[in-house]
Amino acid sequence: MKSVEPEVHLVARPQLDYDEIARYLADVGGQSWLERLDRGEMDAELNDPQNLAEFAGRLCYRSWEPGLNPNVTRVRTDQDQYLSNLLASMHGSVLEHVSFSFVLHNVSRVLTHELIRHRPGVAISQESLRFVRLTDLPFWFPDWAKDDPELMKRSTEMLAQMERFQQWMTEHFGLDEEGVKFAEKKHKTSFMRRFAPEGLATGLVWTANVRTLRHTLEARTAPGAEEEIRLLFAKIGEAVRAEAPALFGDYEITEDGAWVPKWRKV
Ligand SMILES: Cc1cc2nc3c(=O)[nH]c(=O)nc-3n(C[C@H](O)[C@H](O)[C@H](O)COP(=O)(O)OP(=O)(O)OC[C@H]3O[C@@H](n4cnc5c(N)ncnc54)[C@H](O)[C@@H]3O)c2cc1C
Repeated sequence: MKSVEPEVHLVARPQLDYDEIARYLADVGGQSWLERLDRGEMDAELNDPQNLAEFAGRLCYRSWEPGLNPNVTRVRTDQDQYLSNLLASMHGSVLEHVSFSFVLHNVSRVLTHELIRHRPGVAISQESLRFVRLTDLPFWFPDWAKDDPELMKRSTEMLAQMERFQQWMTEHFGLDEEGVKFAEKKHKTSFMRRFAPEGLATGLVWTANVRTLRHTLEARTAPGAEEEIRLLFAKIGEAVRAEAPALFGDYEITEDGAWVPKWRKV
């Protein structure tokens, strides 16, 4: 039995092609927006996730600068203010362009069952336990459990016994013998996983757009949410807030760790 901690690895984020954006803006007369970016007026460094959200928002009203759309006589030039207004006015569809991909490593099947209930705006590739044979049973223990010696003794004994049963089945089915067809290995591996606990740590790639992230961050850090998913989403929250502070800066983190947005359900 291997004791593990749930981990969040942010592995992909948006990247803009500013040359293509410049070609588009030249056609609609919005070059001044890009010039503000180039001069660093909108942000100390280029922040592609935030710039993409702003770009998509401004395209809607052609609000690159006053007058391009005769209905627009004033535009916000500060990105923080622009994006705050976008959140406040619930223009959340713009946020769907901005996606982040995470490897969620050492998370239990308890957690992944709950995570996949969030449907729009996500993509999921989960480790297949039909294909990947269990050789050990990685398992996360919360601190309060680790502080209980009797509980730890009994639970690690039980996990060790389950691991031995996995090894016994491997030998019993002869899975590592010469010539065993892959289809047979898959068939038996799928049977064997039924004897693994739901707390088994596994992993997935989880991609979510910012609209979904804002909603799930609130729901899954709420005091009533399950403790492992709360812990995981606190890590996801820290990661995305560092990436795009203007898109996640309105959250307050309460004493009990709940992320509460100023603007709910954009
Ligand atoms: C603390 C907690 C306890 C829970 N307990 C249970 C439980 O005991 N049993 C259980 O089965 N589930 C439980 N859930 C899961 C919960 O019921 C939801 O399925 C899950 O949180 C997904 O969130 P969502 O419904 O907001 O949908 P998401 O898929 O995250 O969608 C986001 C939003 O998009 C809209 N939307 C998405 N799909 C549709 C649709 N098909 N039609 C219309 N609008 C849509 C809704 O406005 C929705 O809020 C729990 C969740 C939490 C956070």
